[in-house]
Amino acid sequence: MTQAKSPSKTAAARRPAKSKQTRRKAPSVDNPGKVLKRSRYTKAETFAIFQRFHADNPEPKGELDYVNAFTLLVAVVLSAQATDVGVNRATRHLFQIADTPEKMVALGEDRVREEIKTIGLYKNKAKNVILLSEQLIRDHGGEVPEDREALEALPGVGRKTANVVLNIFFGHPTIAVDTHLFRLGNRIGIAPGKTPLDVEKAMEKVVPVEFALHAHHWLILHGRYICKARKPECRRCVIYDLCRSTEKELFDAVPDIALRTKALIEKETVA
Ligand code: SF4
Repeated sequence: MTQAKSPSKTAAARRPAKSKQTRRKAPSVDNPGKVLKRSRYTKAETFAIFQRFHADNPEPKGELDYVNAFTLLVAVVLSAQATDVGVNRATRHLFQIADTPEKMVALGEDRVREEIKTIGLYKNKAKNVILLSEQLIRDHGGEVPEDREALEALPGVGRKTANVVLNIFFGHPTIAVDTHLFRLGNRIGIAPGKTPLDVEKAMEKVVPVEFALHAHHWLILHGRYICKARKPECRRCVIYDLCRSTEKELFDAVPDIALRTKALIEKETVA
C-alpha cells in the first residue's frame, strides 16, 4: 500500500529556492570571484535603479567632516583603511588648529602624528599629510589643484582619493571606487570588473548622466548600510525588485521600502 505524503512535507517540497539559498562570499578587491562580462541590466533598468536612489535620498552627502578643500583632501587621505567616524573623531581638533597647508607644516609631523594616533597607519599618514602640505605650498600656492594628475602626484593620494576630492569639492562626476562600490558593482552586476579601475570605467559607462554626480555617494551609502558585505539587508532595500543579484534574499513579497519609493517616483512622474 502506498503511503500518502503528509501535507506539510508536500508543501515544503513545493516551496521555492528560499530555504536552499547559500550565501556566497561577497566580491572584494582581493577576491572578486567570477566576474561578469557586462552589466546585468538594460539602460532602462539602470536608470530605474538610480531613480530609486535619488527618490530615497535626493542630496546624498559624504560622511567625512571638512571645512575646505585642503581639510577634505587630508580627511580622505586619513580614511584609507579607517572608518569615517574614526577619522572625524581624530580630525575634529586637528582641523581646528591646522586647516591650511601652511598651518599643517608649522604644526609638524610629530604633532600631527599625536593628533591622529587613533587611526590605523597613523605614522605613515602623518608623514604624508606633512609632505603633501609642503608640496601644495611649493607647487600650487597652498591651494588644492582641481586636476587629477596634480592630485595623484601628491604623497598618499591615489586615484580614489583624487576622485573623491574632484567629486565632492569641485563637483566633477567622478566615481571613487572603494570597497563598497567594488562589491556592489560585482554583486548586483551593474558594473562588473576585476579591479577598482575596471569597476570605475564600467560605472562611468552605465550611470545615466543625470545621476553621475551623486552616483558614488548613493552606492557607497547603499553598500555601507544596506547591501553589506557579510549579509545584505534586502528587506530594507529600495531597489529590491530591480536587483538581479544571486545573493538577493528571497521574500514572498517585495519589501515596503521598495514599493513606497517606486510609488513616489510614479507620483512625481505623473505630477
Ligand atoms: S536586494 Fe539585497 S542584494 Fe540586491 S541590492 Fe538590495 S540589499 Fe543588495
